Amino acid sequence: MIRPHLQDDALLEDICLARSQPGLHLWWLGQSGFLLQHQGRHLLFDPYLSDSLTRKYSGTDKPHVRITERVIAPERLNFIDVVTSSHNHTDHLDAETLNPIFRANPGGKFLLAEGNREFAVDRLKVEKTWPLGIDAGQQIQVGGVIIHAVPAAHPQIDRNNRGQHHYLGLIVEIGGWKVYHSGDTMIYDGMAELIRDFNVDVALLPINGDDPSRRVAGNLNGAEAASLAFNIGAKLAIPCHFEMFEFNTSSPTLFEDTARKLGQPFRTLRSGERCTVGSHQRILTNPVAPA
Ligand SMILES: [Zn+2]
Repeated sequence: MIRPHLQDDALLEDICLARSQPGLHLWWLGQSGFLLQHQGRHLLFDPYLSDSLTRKYSGTDKPHVRITERVIAPERLNFIDVVTSSHNHTDHLDAETLNPIFRANPGGKFLLAEGNREFAVDRLKVEKTWPLGIDAGQQIQVGGVIIHAVPAAHPQIDRNNRGQHHYLGLIVEIGGWKVYHSGDTMIYDGMAELIRDFNVDVALLPINGDDPSRRVAGNLNGAEAASLAFNIGAKLAIPCHFEMFEFNTSSPTLFEDTARKLGQPFRTLRSGERCTVGSHQRILTNPVAPA
Protein backbone atom coordinates (compact mmCIF):
# COMPACT_ATOMS: atom_id res chain seq x y z
CA MET A 1 0.00 0.00 0.00
CA ILE A 2 1.36 3.44 -0.93
CA ARG A 3 1.47 5.81 2.03
CA PRO A 4 0.35 9.35 1.19
CA HIS A 5 2.92 12.12 1.39
CA LEU A 6 0.76 13.73 4.10
CA GLN A 7 -2.18 12.00 5.72
CA ASP A 8 -4.83 12.71 8.38
CA ASP A 9 -3.51 15.10 11.08
CA ALA A 10 -0.35 15.92 9.11
CA LEU A 11 -2.40 16.89 6.05
CA LEU A 12 -4.71 19.07 8.14
CA GLU A 13 -1.69 20.75 9.74
CA ASP A 14 -0.28 21.55 6.30
CA ILE A 15 -3.63 22.96 5.12
CA CYS A 16 -3.72 25.11 8.26
CA LEU A 17 -0.09 26.22 7.84
CA ALA A 18 -0.69 27.21 4.21
CA ARG A 19 -3.36 29.73 5.28
CA SER A 20 -0.58 31.99 6.58
CA GLN A 21 1.50 31.64 3.41
CA PRO A 22 1.04 33.63 0.19
CA GLY A 23 0.03 32.11 -3.12
CA LEU A 24 -2.41 29.52 -4.35
CA HIS A 25 -2.13 26.18 -2.57
CA LEU A 26 -3.23 22.92 -4.09
CA TRP A 27 -3.15 19.36 -2.68
CA TRP A 28 -3.69 16.14 -4.62
CA LEU A 29 -6.09 13.98 -2.62
CA GLY A 30 -5.80 10.92 -4.88
CA GLN A 31 -7.56 9.94 -8.16
CA SER A 32 -9.01 13.23 -9.52
CA GLY A 33 -9.47 14.82 -6.11
CA PHE A 34 -7.78 18.15 -5.46
CA LEU A 35 -8.14 20.76 -2.73
CA LEU A 36 -7.53 24.40 -3.72
CA GLN A 37 -6.88 27.03 -1.08
CA HIS A 38 -6.47 30.77 -1.48
CA GLN A 39 -6.83 33.38 1.28
CA GLY A 40 -9.02 31.20 3.43
CA ARG A 41 -11.21 29.94 0.57
CA HIS A 42 -11.31 26.22 -0.10
CA LEU A 43 -12.58 24.38 -3.15
CA LEU A 44 -12.62 20.62 -3.66
CA PHE A 45 -12.61 18.98 -7.09
CA ASP A 46 -14.01 15.44 -7.40
CA PRO A 47 -13.03 14.06 -3.98
CA TYR A 48 -13.01 10.27 -3.54
CA LEU A 49 -12.22 9.60 0.12
CA SER A 50 -13.94 6.31 0.90
CA ASP A 51 -13.72 2.62 0.11
CA SER A 52 -17.13 2.46 -1.53
CA LEU A 53 -15.83 1.17 -4.87
CA THR A 54 -13.62 -1.44 -3.22
CA ARG A 55 -16.64 -2.78 -1.33
CA LYS A 56 -19.01 -2.49 -4.30
CA TYR A 57 -16.79 -4.57 -6.59
CA SER A 58 -15.31 -7.02 -4.09
CA GLY A 59 -15.90 -10.59 -5.20
CA THR A 60 -16.68 -9.50 -8.79
CA ASP A 61 -14.55 -9.82 -11.92
CA LYS A 62 -13.51 -6.17 -11.62
CA PRO A 63 -12.16 -5.76 -8.10
CA HIS A 64 -11.21 -2.18 -7.19
CA VAL A 65 -8.20 -2.88 -5.01
CA ARG A 66 -6.92 0.32 -3.44
CA ILE A 67 -3.15 0.79 -3.75
CA THR A 68 -2.83 4.16 -1.96
CA GLU A 69 -4.16 4.74 1.54
CA ARG A 70 -6.86 7.36 1.98
CA VAL A 71 -5.39 10.81 2.70
CA ILE A 72 -8.13 11.99 5.06
CA ALA A 73 -11.61 11.14 6.28
CA PRO A 74 -14.11 13.35 4.41
CA GLU A 75 -15.86 14.58 7.58
CA ARG A 76 -12.59 16.18 8.72
CA LEU A 77 -12.72 18.60 5.75
CA ASN A 78 -14.99 21.03 7.63
CA PHE A 79 -13.77 24.24 5.97
CA ILE A 80 -14.96 23.72 2.39
CA ASP A 81 -16.71 26.50 0.47
CA VAL A 82 -17.36 24.65 -2.79
CA VAL A 83 -17.16 21.01 -3.85
CA THR A 84 -17.56 19.95 -7.48
CA SER A 85 -18.38 16.79 -9.41
CA SER A 86 -17.33 16.53 -13.05
CA HIS A 87 -19.46 13.46 -13.89
CA ASN A 88 -21.43 10.59 -12.41
CA HIS A 89 -18.80 7.85 -12.07
CA THR A 90 -18.36 6.96 -8.43
CA ASP A 91 -14.72 8.02 -8.21
CA HIS A 92 -16.04 11.52 -9.09
CA LEU A 93 -19.48 11.40 -7.42
CA ASP A 94 -19.18 9.31 -4.28
CA ALA A 95 -22.01 9.51 -1.75
CA GLU A 96 -19.77 8.12 1.01
CA THR A 97 -17.38 11.01 0.44
CA LEU A 98 -19.78 13.83 -0.43
CA ASN A 99 -22.45 13.32 2.22
CA PRO A 100 -19.98 13.58 5.16
CA ILE A 101 -18.49 16.68 3.49
CA PHE A 102 -21.97 18.21 3.12
CA ARG A 103 -22.73 17.50 6.80
CA ALA A 104 -19.40 19.01 7.91
CA ASN A 105 -19.98 22.18 5.84
CA PRO A 106 -23.57 23.32 6.34
CA GLY A 107 -22.98 26.53 4.35
CA GLY A 108 -20.94 24.86 1.61
CA LYS A 109 -22.03 24.71 -2.03
CA PHE A 110 -22.06 21.71 -4.34
CA LEU A 111 -21.64 22.24 -8.08
CA LEU A 112 -22.48 19.52 -10.59
CA ALA A 113 -23.11 19.18 -14.30
CA GLU A 114 -26.71 20.34 -14.76
CA GLY A 115 -27.23 17.39 -17.09
CA ASN A 116 -26.50 15.02 -14.19
CA ARG A 117 -28.84 16.60 -11.63
CA GLU A 118 -31.48 13.85 -11.51
CA PHE A 119 -28.92 11.06 -11.27
CA ALA A 120 -26.77 12.85 -8.69
CA VAL A 121 -29.57 13.91 -6.32
CA ASP A 122 -30.88 10.37 -6.39
CA ARG A 123 -27.47 8.92 -5.53
CA LEU A 124 -26.73 11.53 -2.86
CA LYS A 125 -30.29 11.72 -1.47
CA VAL A 126 -30.25 15.51 -1.41
CA GLU A 127 -32.99 18.01 -2.24
CA LYS A 128 -33.34 18.19 -6.02
CA THR A 129 -32.93 21.95 -6.19
CA TRP A 130 -30.05 22.18 -3.68
CA PRO A 131 -26.97 21.54 -5.88
CA LEU A 132 -25.80 24.32 -8.14
CA GLY A 133 -25.73 23.31 -11.78
CA ILE A 134 -23.55 24.35 -14.69
CA ASP A 135 -23.32 23.29 -18.32
CA ALA A 136 -20.52 23.62 -20.86
CA GLY A 137 -20.23 27.20 -22.09
CA GLN A 138 -21.60 28.64 -18.85
CA GLN A 139 -19.96 30.31 -15.88
CA ILE A 140 -21.02 30.74 -12.28
CA GLN A 141 -19.79 32.83 -9.36
CA VAL A 142 -19.80 30.86 -6.13
CA GLY A 143 -17.90 30.93 -2.84
CA GLY A 144 -15.72 33.82 -3.97
CA VAL A 145 -14.54 32.12 -7.16
CA ILE A 146 -15.67 32.12 -10.79
CA ILE A 147 -16.09 28.72 -12.41
CA HIS A 148 -16.36 28.12 -16.16
CA ALA A 149 -17.45 24.79 -17.63
CA VAL A 150 -16.10 23.21 -20.81
CA PRO A 151 -17.01 19.87 -22.39
CA ALA A 152 -15.18 16.67 -21.50
CA ALA A 153 -15.31 13.52 -23.65
CA HIS A 154 -15.34 10.32 -21.57
CA PRO A 155 -14.74 8.78 -24.00
CA GLN A 156 -17.14 10.82 -26.15
CA ILE A 157 -19.02 14.02 -25.53
CA ASP A 158 -22.40 12.87 -24.26
CA ARG A 159 -25.52 14.93 -23.66
CA ASN A 160 -28.95 14.26 -22.20
CA ASN A 161 -32.19 14.78 -24.12
CA ARG A 162 -32.14 18.47 -23.20
CA GLY A 163 -28.69 18.83 -24.79
CA GLN A 164 -26.90 19.17 -21.44
CA HIS A 165 -23.46 17.63 -21.05
CA HIS A 166 -22.82 14.59 -18.85
CA TYR A 167 -19.02 15.13 -18.72
CA LEU A 168 -17.48 18.47 -17.84
CA GLY A 169 -14.14 20.11 -17.32
CA LEU A 170 -14.04 23.13 -15.01
CA ILE A 171 -11.84 26.22 -15.06
CA VAL A 172 -11.73 27.98 -11.70
CA GLU A 173 -10.64 31.59 -11.38
CA ILE A 174 -9.28 32.00 -7.88
CA GLY A 175 -7.07 34.81 -6.59
CA GLY A 176 -5.90 35.78 -10.08
CA TRP A 177 -5.02 32.22 -11.13
CA LYS A 178 -6.94 29.91 -13.43
CA VAL A 179 -6.97 26.23 -12.63
CA TYR A 180 -8.31 23.75 -15.20
CA HIS A 181 -9.64 20.44 -13.86
CA SER A 182 -10.35 18.46 -17.00
CA GLY A 183 -12.44 15.71 -15.39
CA ASP A 184 -12.13 12.38 -17.16
CA THR A 185 -11.61 13.09 -20.82
CA MET A 186 -10.12 12.28 -24.16
CA ILE A 187 -9.08 14.93 -26.70
CA TYR A 188 -11.96 16.18 -28.87
CA ASP A 189 -11.98 18.44 -31.93
CA GLY A 190 -11.42 22.06 -30.98
CA MET A 191 -10.60 21.23 -27.34
CA ALA A 192 -7.13 22.80 -27.19
CA GLU A 193 -8.30 25.96 -28.99
CA LEU A 194 -11.29 26.32 -26.67
CA ILE A 195 -9.27 25.95 -23.48
CA ARG A 196 -6.28 27.97 -24.68
CA ASP A 197 -8.51 31.07 -24.68
CA PHE A 198 -8.81 30.83 -20.88
CA ASN A 199 -5.03 31.30 -20.31
CA VAL A 200 -4.84 28.47 -17.82
CA ASP A 201 -2.13 28.62 -15.16
CA VAL A 202 -2.46 25.10 -13.80
CA ALA A 203 -3.92 22.08 -15.64
CA LEU A 204 -4.95 18.98 -13.66
CA LEU A 205 -5.09 16.09 -16.12
CA PRO A 206 -5.73 12.32 -15.97
CA ILE A 207 -3.02 10.00 -17.28
CA ASN A 208 -4.46 6.49 -16.86
CA GLY A 209 -5.52 5.95 -20.47
CA ASP A 210 -2.32 4.39 -21.72
CA ASP A 211 -3.34 0.75 -21.85
CA PRO A 212 -6.35 -0.02 -24.05
CA SER A 213 -6.51 -3.50 -22.58
CA ARG A 214 -7.46 -2.04 -19.22
CA ARG A 215 -11.14 -2.19 -18.47
CA VAL A 216 -11.51 1.48 -17.74
CA ALA A 217 -10.25 3.67 -20.54
CA GLY A 218 -11.72 6.82 -21.94
CA ASN A 219 -9.00 8.99 -20.45
CA LEU A 220 -5.89 10.72 -21.71
CA ASN A 221 -2.67 8.80 -21.48
CA GLY A 222 0.44 10.50 -20.13
CA ALA A 223 1.68 11.64 -23.55
CA GLU A 224 -1.74 13.04 -24.49
CA ALA A 225 -2.06 14.82 -21.16
CA ALA A 226 1.35 16.48 -21.50
CA SER A 227 0.59 17.45 -25.11
CA LEU A 228 -2.78 18.90 -24.16
CA ALA A 229 -1.16 20.98 -21.40
CA PHE A 230 1.37 22.25 -23.93
CA ASN A 231 -1.28 22.96 -26.59
CA ILE A 232 -3.45 24.97 -24.21
CA GLY A 233 -0.41 26.91 -22.95
CA ALA A 234 -0.77 25.79 -19.34
CA LYS A 235 1.98 27.25 -17.18
CA LEU A 236 2.01 24.09 -15.07
CA ALA A 237 0.61 20.60 -15.64
CA ILE A 238 -0.12 18.18 -12.79
CA PRO A 239 -1.03 14.55 -13.56
CA CYS A 240 -3.76 12.70 -11.71
CA HIS A 241 -6.03 9.63 -11.89
CA PHE A 242 -3.32 7.08 -11.07
CA GLU A 243 -2.18 5.05 -8.05
CA MET A 244 -5.72 4.68 -6.65
CA PHE A 245 -6.84 1.28 -7.95
CA GLU A 246 -4.64 -1.63 -8.93
CA PHE A 247 -6.49 -2.31 -12.23
CA ASN A 248 -6.64 1.34 -13.30
CA THR A 249 -3.36 3.11 -12.80
CA SER A 250 -0.34 4.18 -14.76
CA SER A 251 3.20 5.33 -14.15
CA PRO A 252 3.63 9.09 -14.63
CA THR A 253 6.84 8.41 -16.61
CA LEU A 254 5.26 8.79 -20.06
CA PHE A 255 3.67 12.07 -18.96
CA GLU A 256 6.95 13.34 -17.51
CA ASP A 257 9.07 12.30 -20.50
CA THR A 258 6.66 13.92 -22.96
CA ALA A 259 6.45 17.10 -20.89
CA ARG A 260 10.27 17.34 -20.81
CA LYS A 261 10.47 16.86 -24.59
CA LEU A 262 7.91 19.61 -25.15
CA GLY A 263 9.39 21.96 -22.54
CA GLN A 264 6.05 21.82 -20.71
CA PRO A 265 6.50 22.68 -17.01
CA PHE A 266 4.99 20.02 -14.79
CA ARG A 267 4.91 18.79 -11.24
CA THR A 268 4.12 15.23 -10.27
CA LEU A 269 2.60 15.18 -6.82
CA ARG A 270 2.20 12.28 -4.47
CA SER A 271 -1.20 11.79 -2.90
CA GLY A 272 -1.49 14.23 0.01
CA GLU A 273 1.29 16.48 -1.33
CA ARG A 274 0.96 20.26 -1.71
CA CYS A 275 1.94 22.45 -4.65
CA THR A 276 2.10 26.21 -4.09
CA VAL A 277 1.83 28.60 -6.99
CA GLY A 278 3.76 31.65 -5.82
CA SER A 279 2.63 35.22 -5.82
CA HIS A 280 4.66 35.97 -8.96
CA GLN A 281 3.61 32.86 -10.88
CA ARG A 282 6.75 31.16 -9.66
CA ILE A 283 6.04 27.48 -9.52
CA LEU A 284 8.28 24.77 -8.21
CA THR A 285 8.23 22.25 -11.05
CA ASN A 286 10.05 19.10 -11.88
CA PRO A 287 13.12 19.81 -14.04
CA VAL A 288 12.10 20.43 -17.63
CA ALA A 289 15.50 19.72 -19.12
CA PRO A 290 16.16 16.06 -19.90
CA ALA A 291 17.78 14.40 -16.91
ZN1 LIG B 1 -12.43 8.54 -13.16
